[in-house]
Amino acid sequence: MEKLLIRHCEVLTFEGREPRFLDARDILIEGKRISAILPASAEAPADCQVIEAAGMLAVPGMINTHAHVPMVLFRNAGPDVNENDWFNKVIFPLEANLTPEDVYWGAMLGQAEMIAAGITCTADHYFEMDWVARAVEQAGTRANLGWAVFGHQGYGQLEETIRFVERWQGKADGRITTWLAPHSPYLCDPDFLARCAREAARLGVGNHIHAAETAGQVALSLERYGKTPVQVLADAGILEQPVILAHCLYPSDDDLDLLAGREAGIAQAPKTYLAMAMGLADLPKYLEKGIALGLATDGAVSSCTLDLFEQMRLTALTQKNKAMDAEVLPVETVLDIAFQGGARVVRQPELGNLKPGNLADVVLLRQDRPAAQPVINKAANLIYSLDAQDVDTVICDGKLIYQGGRHLTLDLEEIYREVNARLPRLLRKDLSRKIAEYPE
Ligand SMILES: [Zn+2]
Repeated sequence: MEKLLIRHCEVLTFEGREPRFLDARDILIEGKRISAILPASAEAPADCQVIEAAGMLAVPGMINTHAHVPMVLFRNAGPDVNENDWFNKVIFPLEANLTPEDVYWGAMLGQAEMIAAGITCTADHYFEMDWVARAVEQAGTRANLGWAVFGHQGYGQLEETIRFVERWQGKADGRITTWLAPHSPYLCDPDFLARCAREAARLGVGNHIHAAETAGQVALSLERYGKTPVQVLADAGILEQPVILAHCLYPSDDDLDLLAGREAGIAQAPKTYLAMAMGLADLPKYLEKGIALGLATDGAVSSCTLDLFEQMRLTALTQKNKAMDAEVLPVETVLDIAFQGGARVVRQPELGNLKPGNLADVVLLRQDRPAAQPVINKAANLIYSLDAQDVDTVICDGKLIYQGGRHLTLDLEEIYREVNARLPRLLRKDLSRKIAEYPE
Protein backbone atom coordinates (compact mmCIF):
# COMPACT_ATOMS: atom_id res chain seq x y z
CA MET A 1 0.00 0.00 0.00
CA GLU A 2 1.29 3.46 -0.86
CA LYS A 3 2.28 5.59 2.11
CA LEU A 4 2.38 9.36 2.27
CA LEU A 5 3.76 11.26 5.26
CA ILE A 6 2.96 14.96 5.77
CA ARG A 7 5.56 16.24 8.22
CA HIS A 8 5.61 18.96 10.87
CA CYS A 9 2.30 20.63 10.06
CA GLU A 10 -0.44 22.11 12.19
CA VAL A 11 -3.69 20.19 11.95
CA LEU A 12 -7.33 21.25 12.17
CA THR A 13 -9.38 18.41 13.61
CA PHE A 14 -12.77 18.22 15.31
CA GLU A 15 -13.89 16.58 18.55
CA GLY A 16 -17.63 16.37 18.11
CA ARG A 17 -18.58 19.82 16.79
CA GLU A 18 -15.55 21.54 18.37
CA PRO A 19 -12.55 22.47 16.24
CA ARG A 20 -9.09 21.76 17.70
CA PHE A 21 -5.79 22.98 16.30
CA LEU A 22 -2.87 20.61 16.90
CA ASP A 23 0.72 21.85 16.59
CA ALA A 24 3.73 20.00 15.16
CA ARG A 25 2.08 16.86 13.87
CA ASP A 26 2.86 14.24 11.23
CA ILE A 27 -0.06 12.87 9.23
CA LEU A 28 0.44 9.35 7.92
CA ILE A 29 -1.71 8.32 4.96
CA GLU A 30 -1.85 4.68 3.88
CA GLY A 31 -3.73 4.00 0.66
CA LYS A 32 -6.95 6.05 0.68
CA ARG A 33 -7.06 6.68 4.42
CA ILE A 34 -5.45 8.64 7.20
CA SER A 35 -3.84 5.98 9.38
CA ALA A 36 -2.29 8.18 12.10
CA ILE A 37 -1.82 11.76 13.28
CA LEU A 38 1.21 11.75 15.58
CA PRO A 39 3.50 14.25 17.30
CA ALA A 40 6.09 15.26 14.69
CA SER A 41 9.09 12.96 14.64
CA ALA A 42 12.65 13.84 13.76
CA GLU A 43 13.04 11.24 11.04
CA ALA A 44 10.73 10.03 8.32
CA PRO A 45 10.44 6.29 7.71
CA ALA A 46 12.15 5.17 4.48
CA ASP A 47 9.10 3.61 2.85
CA CYS A 48 7.03 6.81 2.69
CA GLN A 49 6.63 9.59 0.16
CA VAL A 50 7.31 12.65 2.33
CA ILE A 51 5.77 16.12 2.16
CA GLU A 52 7.60 18.68 4.29
CA ALA A 53 4.91 20.97 5.66
CA ALA A 54 6.53 23.01 8.45
CA GLY A 55 4.55 26.24 8.91
CA MET A 56 1.56 24.91 7.02
CA LEU A 57 -1.91 24.21 8.34
CA ALA A 58 -3.56 20.93 7.31
CA VAL A 59 -7.33 21.14 6.92
CA PRO A 60 -9.87 18.67 5.52
CA GLY A 61 -10.51 18.94 1.78
CA MET A 62 -13.36 21.41 1.40
CA ILE A 63 -16.78 20.14 0.33
CA ASN A 64 -18.84 22.14 -2.14
CA THR A 65 -22.43 21.12 -1.43
CA HIS A 66 -24.10 22.70 -4.47
CA ALA A 67 -22.58 23.75 -7.77
CA HIS A 68 -23.11 23.86 -11.50
CA VAL A 69 -19.43 23.49 -12.26
CA PRO A 70 -19.43 23.70 -16.09
CA MET A 71 -21.16 27.10 -15.83
CA VAL A 72 -17.64 28.54 -15.42
CA LEU A 73 -17.83 28.68 -19.24
CA PHE A 74 -20.24 31.61 -18.78
CA ARG A 75 -18.46 33.26 -15.82
CA ASN A 76 -19.55 36.89 -15.49
CA ALA A 77 -21.81 36.65 -18.56
CA GLY A 78 -24.67 38.43 -16.79
CA PRO A 79 -23.82 40.82 -13.98
CA ASP A 80 -26.37 43.24 -12.53
CA VAL A 81 -29.54 41.29 -13.37
CA ASN A 82 -32.40 40.09 -11.19
CA GLU A 83 -33.56 36.48 -10.92
CA ASN A 84 -36.09 36.50 -13.83
CA ASP A 85 -33.69 38.03 -16.35
CA TRP A 86 -30.80 35.97 -15.02
CA PHE A 87 -32.68 32.78 -15.93
CA ASN A 88 -34.67 33.82 -18.98
CA LYS A 89 -32.30 36.30 -20.68
CA VAL A 90 -28.87 35.06 -19.58
CA ILE A 91 -28.36 31.49 -18.50
CA PHE A 92 -31.19 29.46 -20.04
CA PRO A 93 -30.54 30.85 -23.56
CA LEU A 94 -26.75 30.44 -23.19
CA GLU A 95 -27.11 26.86 -22.00
CA ALA A 96 -29.04 26.03 -25.18
CA ASN A 97 -25.64 26.31 -26.93
CA LEU A 98 -23.88 23.63 -24.88
CA THR A 99 -22.59 20.43 -26.44
CA PRO A 100 -21.41 17.49 -24.32
CA GLU A 101 -17.78 18.38 -25.12
CA ASP A 102 -18.37 21.96 -23.95
CA VAL A 103 -19.67 20.59 -20.65
CA TYR A 104 -16.53 18.46 -20.33
CA TRP A 105 -14.17 21.41 -20.83
CA GLY A 106 -16.23 23.56 -18.49
CA ALA A 107 -16.00 20.82 -15.87
CA MET A 108 -12.24 20.60 -16.41
CA LEU A 109 -11.83 24.37 -15.93
CA GLY A 110 -14.04 24.25 -12.84
CA GLN A 111 -12.13 21.31 -11.41
CA ALA A 112 -8.84 23.16 -11.91
CA GLU A 113 -10.23 26.21 -10.13
CA MET A 114 -11.67 24.19 -7.25
CA ILE A 115 -8.56 22.09 -6.66
CA ALA A 116 -6.47 25.26 -6.50
CA ALA A 117 -8.95 26.56 -3.90
CA GLY A 118 -8.76 23.42 -1.75
CA ILE A 119 -12.10 21.88 -2.79
CA THR A 120 -11.84 18.09 -3.08
CA CYS A 121 -15.52 17.08 -3.19
CA THR A 122 -18.41 18.71 -5.06
CA ALA A 123 -22.12 18.04 -5.31
CA ASP A 124 -22.53 19.01 -8.94
CA HIS A 125 -25.95 19.54 -10.50
CA TYR A 126 -25.77 19.90 -14.27
CA PHE A 127 -26.39 18.36 -17.68
CA GLU A 128 -24.52 15.79 -19.80
CA MET A 129 -23.09 14.45 -16.57
CA ASP A 130 -21.13 11.57 -18.13
CA TRP A 131 -18.76 14.27 -19.32
CA VAL A 132 -18.57 15.85 -15.89
CA ALA A 133 -17.86 12.42 -14.41
CA ARG A 134 -14.97 11.98 -16.85
CA ALA A 135 -13.52 15.33 -15.75
CA VAL A 136 -13.80 14.33 -12.08
CA GLU A 137 -12.15 11.01 -12.82
CA GLN A 138 -9.26 12.74 -14.57
CA ALA A 139 -8.90 15.53 -11.99
CA GLY A 140 -8.64 12.97 -9.18
CA THR A 141 -11.30 14.64 -7.04
CA ARG A 142 -14.43 13.33 -5.37
CA ALA A 143 -17.98 14.20 -6.41
CA ASN A 144 -21.66 13.65 -5.83
CA LEU A 145 -23.11 14.02 -9.33
CA GLY A 146 -26.72 14.60 -10.34
CA TRP A 147 -28.00 15.06 -13.91
CA ALA A 148 -30.40 18.00 -13.70
CA VAL A 149 -33.84 17.40 -15.20
CA PHE A 150 -36.85 19.69 -15.71
CA GLY A 151 -40.45 18.46 -15.55
CA HIS A 152 -41.16 19.61 -19.12
CA GLN A 153 -38.45 17.23 -20.39
CA GLY A 154 -40.66 14.33 -19.33
CA TYR A 155 -40.13 10.88 -17.91
CA GLY A 156 -37.96 9.81 -20.84
CA GLN A 157 -35.32 12.33 -19.79
CA LEU A 158 -35.71 11.31 -16.15
CA GLU A 159 -34.92 7.75 -17.30
CA GLU A 160 -31.75 9.08 -18.95
CA THR A 161 -30.65 10.60 -15.63
CA ILE A 162 -31.47 7.31 -13.85
CA ARG A 163 -29.24 5.43 -16.27
CA PHE A 164 -26.49 7.94 -15.48
CA VAL A 165 -26.92 7.21 -11.76
CA GLU A 166 -26.54 3.50 -12.47
CA ARG A 167 -23.59 3.93 -14.87
CA TRP A 168 -21.42 6.01 -12.58
CA GLN A 169 -22.33 4.99 -9.01
CA GLY A 170 -19.11 4.15 -7.15
CA LYS A 171 -16.91 4.78 -10.21
CA ALA A 172 -13.50 6.52 -10.28
CA ASP A 173 -12.27 4.14 -7.60
CA GLY A 174 -15.27 4.98 -5.40
CA ARG A 175 -14.75 8.76 -5.62
CA ILE A 176 -17.97 9.32 -7.57
CA THR A 177 -21.40 8.92 -6.03
CA THR A 178 -24.53 9.68 -8.04
CA TRP A 179 -27.94 11.03 -7.07
CA LEU A 180 -31.02 12.21 -8.93
CA ALA A 181 -31.32 15.94 -9.58
CA PRO A 182 -34.81 17.24 -10.40
CA HIS A 183 -34.27 20.98 -10.93
CA SER A 184 -36.78 22.48 -8.51
CA PRO A 185 -40.41 22.44 -7.40
CA TYR A 186 -41.02 25.47 -9.64
CA LEU A 187 -39.82 23.64 -12.77
CA CYS A 188 -40.96 20.10 -11.88
CA ASP A 189 -44.59 19.37 -10.98
CA PRO A 190 -45.59 17.30 -7.91
CA ASP A 191 -46.20 14.10 -9.93
CA PHE A 192 -42.75 14.38 -11.48
CA LEU A 193 -41.20 14.96 -8.05
CA ALA A 194 -43.09 11.95 -6.64
CA ARG A 195 -41.62 9.82 -9.42
CA CYS A 196 -38.13 11.12 -8.55
CA ALA A 197 -38.73 10.20 -4.91
CA ARG A 198 -39.82 6.64 -5.83
CA GLU A 199 -36.88 6.18 -8.19
CA ALA A 200 -34.41 7.47 -5.59
CA ALA A 201 -35.82 4.99 -3.06
CA ARG A 202 -35.51 2.16 -5.59
CA LEU A 203 -31.93 3.15 -6.45
CA GLY A 204 -30.94 3.80 -2.83
CA VAL A 205 -29.79 7.35 -3.63
CA GLY A 206 -30.81 10.90 -2.73
CA ASN A 207 -32.20 13.90 -4.61
CA HIS A 208 -30.36 17.18 -5.15
CA ILE A 209 -32.80 20.03 -5.82
CA HIS A 210 -33.26 23.81 -5.59
CA ALA A 211 -35.99 24.97 -3.20
CA ALA A 212 -37.46 28.13 -1.66
CA GLU A 213 -34.70 30.32 -3.08
CA THR A 214 -36.75 33.51 -3.16
CA ALA A 215 -39.87 34.90 -1.51
CA GLY A 216 -41.40 35.03 -5.01
CA GLN A 217 -40.98 31.27 -5.44
CA VAL A 218 -42.76 30.64 -2.14
CA ALA A 219 -45.64 32.93 -3.19
CA LEU A 220 -45.91 31.15 -6.56
CA SER A 221 -45.97 27.75 -4.86
CA LEU A 222 -48.72 28.86 -2.47
CA GLU A 223 -50.72 30.17 -5.43
CA ARG A 224 -50.25 27.03 -7.58
CA TYR A 225 -50.53 24.32 -4.92
CA GLY A 226 -51.62 25.97 -1.66
CA LYS A 227 -48.35 24.69 -0.18
CA THR A 228 -44.83 25.98 0.39
CA PRO A 229 -42.06 24.53 -1.81
CA VAL A 230 -40.80 22.42 1.12
CA GLN A 231 -44.34 21.10 1.75
CA VAL A 232 -44.56 20.19 -1.95
CA LEU A 233 -41.32 18.22 -1.62
CA ALA A 234 -42.49 16.54 1.60
CA ASP A 235 -45.84 15.52 0.07
CA ALA A 236 -44.05 14.17 -3.03
CA GLY A 237 -41.92 11.92 -0.77
CA ILE A 238 -38.65 13.69 -1.57
CA LEU A 239 -37.80 14.05 2.14
CA GLU A 240 -38.04 10.26 2.69
CA GLN A 241 -34.60 9.84 1.07
CA PRO A 242 -31.44 11.90 1.51
CA VAL A 243 -31.82 15.32 -0.06
CA ILE A 244 -29.65 18.35 -0.72
CA LEU A 245 -31.74 21.52 -0.79
CA ALA A 246 -29.90 24.26 -2.64
CA HIS A 247 -30.27 27.67 -0.97
CA CYS A 248 -33.66 27.27 0.82
CA LEU A 249 -33.58 30.87 2.05
CA TYR A 250 -37.32 31.16 2.72
CA PRO A 251 -38.61 28.11 4.62
CA SER A 252 -41.48 28.65 7.07
CA ASP A 253 -41.12 27.47 10.67
CA ASP A 254 -43.27 24.47 9.74
CA ASP A 255 -40.95 23.76 6.80
CA LEU A 256 -37.97 23.70 9.15
CA ASP A 257 -39.83 21.21 11.35
CA LEU A 258 -40.47 19.07 8.25
CA LEU A 259 -36.74 19.08 7.48
CA ALA A 260 -35.49 18.52 11.03
CA GLY A 261 -34.66 14.91 11.73
CA ARG A 262 -34.67 14.01 8.00
CA GLU A 263 -31.61 13.21 5.94
CA ALA A 264 -31.88 16.73 4.57
CA GLY A 265 -29.01 19.16 4.16
CA ILE A 266 -29.09 22.77 3.03
CA ALA A 267 -26.41 24.29 0.79
CA GLN A 268 -25.52 27.94 1.39
CA ALA A 269 -23.90 30.22 -1.20
CA PRO A 270 -24.18 33.78 0.15
CA LYS A 271 -22.10 35.32 -2.63
CA THR A 272 -24.93 34.45 -5.04
CA TYR A 273 -27.52 35.86 -2.63
CA LEU A 274 -25.65 39.16 -2.37
CA ALA A 275 -25.05 39.42 -6.12
CA MET A 276 -28.67 38.70 -7.00
CA ALA A 277 -30.20 40.62 -4.08
CA MET A 278 -32.08 37.55 -2.89
CA GLY A 279 -31.95 38.29 0.83
CA LEU A 280 -30.46 35.85 3.35
CA ALA A 281 -31.43 32.74 5.26
CA ASP A 282 -31.88 32.87 9.03
CA LEU A 283 -29.17 30.29 9.69
CA PRO A 284 -29.17 30.35 13.52
CA LYS A 285 -32.75 29.06 13.33
CA TYR A 286 -31.73 26.19 11.03
CA LEU A 287 -28.90 25.29 13.41
CA GLU A 288 -31.26 25.37 16.40
CA LYS A 289 -33.41 22.78 14.63
CA GLY A 290 -30.34 20.61 13.98
CA ILE A 291 -30.57 20.86 10.19
CA ALA A 292 -27.30 20.08 8.37
CA LEU A 293 -25.75 23.12 6.68
CA GLY A 294 -22.90 23.14 4.19
CA LEU A 295 -21.15 25.75 2.07
CA ALA A 296 -21.60 25.95 -1.67
CA THR A 297 -20.22 27.92 -4.58
CA ASP A 298 -23.34 27.63 -6.75
CA GLY A 299 -22.54 28.36 -10.41
CA ALA A 300 -19.99 30.92 -11.53
CA VAL A 301 -22.54 32.97 -13.48
CA SER A 302 -24.02 34.17 -10.18
CA SER A 303 -21.12 33.69 -7.75
CA CYS A 304 -18.26 34.37 -10.23
CA THR A 305 -15.79 32.02 -8.47
CA LEU A 306 -15.75 28.44 -7.22
CA ASP A 307 -14.16 29.40 -3.92
CA LEU A 308 -15.41 28.24 -0.53
CA PHE A 309 -13.09 30.54 1.43
CA GLU A 310 -15.18 33.42 0.12
CA GLN A 311 -18.44 31.64 0.88
CA MET A 312 -17.24 30.72 4.39
CA ARG A 313 -16.33 34.31 5.19
CA LEU A 314 -19.51 35.70 3.66
CA THR A 315 -21.65 33.17 5.52
CA ALA A 316 -20.29 34.42 8.83
CA LEU A 317 -20.29 38.13 7.98
CA THR A 318 -23.72 38.29 6.34
CA GLN A 319 -25.34 36.38 9.21
CA LYS A 320 -23.87 38.76 11.79
CA ASN A 321 -25.11 41.68 9.78
CA LYS A 322 -28.57 40.20 9.20
CA ALA A 323 -28.97 39.52 12.93
CA MET A 324 -27.36 42.87 13.86
CA ASP A 325 -25.43 40.77 16.36
CA ALA A 326 -21.67 40.14 16.11
CA GLU A 327 -21.99 37.10 18.39
CA VAL A 328 -24.00 35.17 15.79
CA LEU A 329 -22.06 32.33 14.08
CA PRO A 330 -18.88 32.29 16.16
CA VAL A 331 -15.71 30.93 14.54
CA GLU A 332 -16.18 27.42 15.99
CA THR A 333 -19.64 27.14 14.40
CA VAL A 334 -18.41 28.49 11.07
CA LEU A 335 -15.59 25.91 10.91
CA ASP A 336 -18.01 23.11 11.80
CA ILE A 337 -20.35 24.19 8.97
CA ALA A 338 -17.50 24.64 6.48
CA PHE A 339 -15.87 21.26 7.03
CA GLN A 340 -18.03 18.75 8.90
CA GLY A 341 -21.28 20.38 7.74
CA GLY A 342 -20.33 19.75 4.11
CA ALA A 343 -19.76 16.06 4.89
CA ARG A 344 -23.14 15.87 6.60
CA VAL A 345 -24.90 17.48 3.63
CA VAL A 346 -23.37 15.10 1.06
CA ARG A 347 -23.86 12.23 3.54
CA GLN A 348 -20.22 11.13 3.57
CA PRO A 349 -19.26 10.79 7.24
CA GLU A 350 -15.69 9.73 6.40
CA LEU A 351 -14.98 13.24 5.07
CA GLY A 352 -14.80 16.66 6.72
CA ASN A 353 -12.53 15.75 9.62
CA LEU A 354 -8.84 14.84 9.74
CA LYS A 355 -8.72 11.80 11.97
CA PRO A 356 -7.40 8.24 11.67
CA GLY A 357 -9.71 6.00 9.64
CA ASN A 358 -11.19 8.84 7.59
CA LEU A 359 -10.63 9.20 3.86
CA ALA A 360 -7.44 11.14 3.15
CA ASP A 361 -8.72 14.36 1.55
CA VAL A 362 -6.21 16.87 2.93
CA VAL A 363 -5.35 20.46 2.03
CA LEU A 364 -2.16 22.21 3.18
CA LEU A 365 -2.40 25.96 3.60
CA ARG A 366 0.57 28.30 3.67
CA GLN A 367 0.41 30.89 6.44
CA ASP A 368 3.26 33.14 5.32
CA ARG A 369 1.53 36.01 3.52
CA PRO A 370 1.66 39.28 5.46
CA ALA A 371 -2.14 39.22 5.77
CA ALA A 372 -1.95 35.83 7.51
CA GLN A 373 0.53 36.94 10.18
CA PRO A 374 0.76 36.97 13.15
CA VAL A 375 -1.45 34.04 14.15
CA ILE A 376 -3.27 34.97 17.35
CA ASN A 377 -6.56 33.12 16.88
CA LYS A 378 -6.13 30.18 14.48
CA ALA A 379 -9.83 29.70 13.82
CA ALA A 380 -10.38 33.37 13.03
CA ASN A 381 -7.25 33.43 10.87
CA LEU A 382 -8.50 30.49 8.83
CA ILE A 383 -11.93 32.04 8.28
CA TYR A 384 -11.15 35.73 7.91
CA SER A 385 -7.50 36.04 6.80
CA LEU A 386 -6.46 32.96 4.83
CA ASP A 387 -7.61 32.61 1.28
CA ALA A 388 -7.79 30.25 -1.69
CA GLN A 389 -4.41 31.63 -2.79
CA ASP A 390 -2.86 30.14 0.36
CA VAL A 391 -3.61 26.58 -0.82
CA ASP A 392 -0.24 24.91 -1.41
CA THR A 393 -0.97 21.19 -1.60
CA VAL A 394 -4.09 19.10 -2.20
CA ILE A 395 -4.45 15.38 -1.56
CA CYS A 396 -7.63 13.54 -2.50
CA ASP A 397 -8.32 9.89 -1.72
CA GLY A 398 -4.71 9.56 -0.55
CA LYS A 399 -3.25 10.88 -3.83
CA LEU A 400 -1.37 14.12 -4.43
CA ILE A 401 -3.22 16.15 -7.07
CA TYR A 402 -1.79 19.66 -6.50
CA GLN A 403 1.52 20.76 -5.00
CA GLY A 404 3.40 24.03 -4.70
CA GLY A 405 0.64 25.78 -6.64
CA ARG A 406 0.91 23.33 -9.56
CA HIS A 407 -1.70 20.95 -10.90
CA LEU A 408 -0.52 17.34 -11.14
CA THR A 409 -3.60 15.91 -12.88
CA LEU A 410 -4.74 18.72 -15.20
CA ASP A 411 -3.12 20.70 -18.02
CA LEU A 412 -4.21 24.34 -17.57
CA GLU A 413 -2.93 25.56 -20.93
CA GLU A 414 -4.89 22.89 -22.77
CA ILE A 415 -8.03 23.71 -20.74
CA TYR A 416 -7.78 27.47 -21.41
CA ARG A 417 -7.19 26.81 -25.12
CA GLU A 418 -10.24 24.52 -25.40
CA VAL A 419 -12.50 26.85 -23.41
CA ASN A 420 -11.55 29.99 -25.32
CA ALA A 421 -11.90 28.28 -28.70
CA ARG A 422 -15.51 27.45 -27.78
CA LEU A 423 -16.50 30.89 -26.47
CA PRO A 424 -17.63 32.70 -29.64
CA ARG A 425 -20.15 29.95 -30.39
CA LEU A 426 -21.18 29.58 -26.74
CA LEU A 427 -21.91 33.29 -26.31
CA ARG A 428 -24.14 33.63 -29.38
CA LYS A 429 -27.49 34.23 -27.76
CA ASP A 430 -30.93 33.62 -29.29
CA LEU A 431 -33.70 34.44 -26.80
CA SER A 432 -36.14 32.19 -28.69
CA ARG A 433 -33.96 29.17 -27.81
CA LYS A 434 -33.69 28.39 -24.12
CA ILE A 435 -33.52 25.19 -22.13
CA ALA A 436 -36.37 26.16 -19.78
CA GLU A 437 -38.55 29.11 -18.80
CA TYR A 438 -38.31 30.57 -15.30
CA PRO A 439 -41.86 31.30 -14.09
CA GLU A 440 -42.41 35.02 -13.41
ZN1 LIG B 1 -28.17 26.03 -8.25
